[in-house]
Amino acid sequence: MVSISTSRSWVEIDLDALSHNINYLSSLLKPKTKFMAVVKADGYGHGLITIARHCQRIGITAYAVATIDEGIKLRKAGISGEILILGFTHPIRAFELYKYHLIQSIIDSKYACELSWCGFDIDVHVKIDSGMHRLGFDVNDIGSIEELYEYNNLHIKGYFTHLCVCDSNKRSDISFTKSQINSFNRLINKLKKYNDVGKIHIQSSYGLINYPEIDCDYARIGILMYGIKSSHSDYLKIKLDLSPVLSIKSRIATIHHLVKGTKIGYGLTYQVTKDSIVATIPIGYGDGIPRQLSSNGYVLVKGQKCPIIGRICMDQMLVDVSRVKNLTSNEVVTIIGKDGNNEIRIEQLALAADTISNEILCRIKKRLPRIYKGGN
Ligand SMILES: *Cc1c(COP(=O)(O)O)cnc(C)c1O
Repeated sequence: MVSISTSRSWVEIDLDALSHNINYLSSLLKPKTKFMAVVKADGYGHGLITIARHCQRIGITAYAVATIDEGIKLRKAGISGEILILGFTHPIRAFELYKYHLIQSIIDSKYACELSWCGFDIDVHVKIDSGMHRLGFDVNDIGSIEELYEYNNLHIKGYFTHLCVCDSNKRSDISFTKSQINSFNRLINKLKKYNDVGKIHIQSSYGLINYPEIDCDYARIGILMYGIKSSHSDYLKIKLDLSPVLSIKSRIATIHHLVKGTKIGYGLTYQVTKDSIVATIPIGYGDGIPRQLSSNGYVLVKGQKCPIIGRICMDQMLVDVSRVKNLTSNEVVTIIGKDGNNEIRIEQLALAADTISNEILCRIKKRLPRIYKGGN
């Protein structure tokens, strides 16, 4: 599915890197643990359908999304495995949950009551709040949880909880995470005495790496499947063999030869300190490039680092390409990804933009076409 782009700027998705990451991360799972591919938010900006179809092709049979509409899109695209909706779905959409065989998370007692009242047979996983205080039944409230078994049309197929500091090696965070795991396991063991609890899951990406002793039915893997860390500073217990799946490329629109002292761009915020060659690159914050990278980042041209200078515009940015020999317009520019021996990592952009890789990915706009490579 290789295609040579004629776009001004584009996103490249390397499906072979995705296969590699999934196979590598799967090798870290306990034998009975199933890989649940987290493809919410348009597959972390990579493209929901293509990512999920590729996952299906290489044997993944469980998916997690954030919304019912993401789940329906997967079904319409031919995804046949289990699809868990991690977040809130309005009970008025109960029929669609039933029709598309989506698994809904039950987030509290009132929600269960409203969803059951709609009268459709729905598969559910019960979300347990073990300390994050976002969604779920309090881990100690076994009374409310057992009442769920009275709703005959809500079929409890599993239980899960979410760890909120498993990316840290601070002692207090480790002991907090262990208490989350222990209290969740205690609840499950109590419930098991009288009830069928179905499938159990706790780990997300960092939970898998940093708490490999957890032995559950699924691990919900998002960010690491895409080959990147949320943040440079995140703690990982082992060194991982992952490849970033996403790159962003652009091409030089035009080139200016500017004399020393020339000021450039909106606000004339940047002044060249010597005679310089400046290229205009047709990508900007309207494509999802953080404006915080203004005079605070670089791109790769012919494998060489070239600083972003002046303010990033909505649709364009300026780059100092003085160091690159024999440059003409149309030359490909790497905003994220590898070129020659150099690489720009999403984690670096995230750091410069004072955020995490996940948000950078979610900000990438649809107007950048996705070019998919590999995957055959
Ligand atoms: C997003 C999400 C995940 C995936 O987390 P990663 O850190 O990207 O692996 C897992 N579980 C829940 C509940 C989530 O919301």
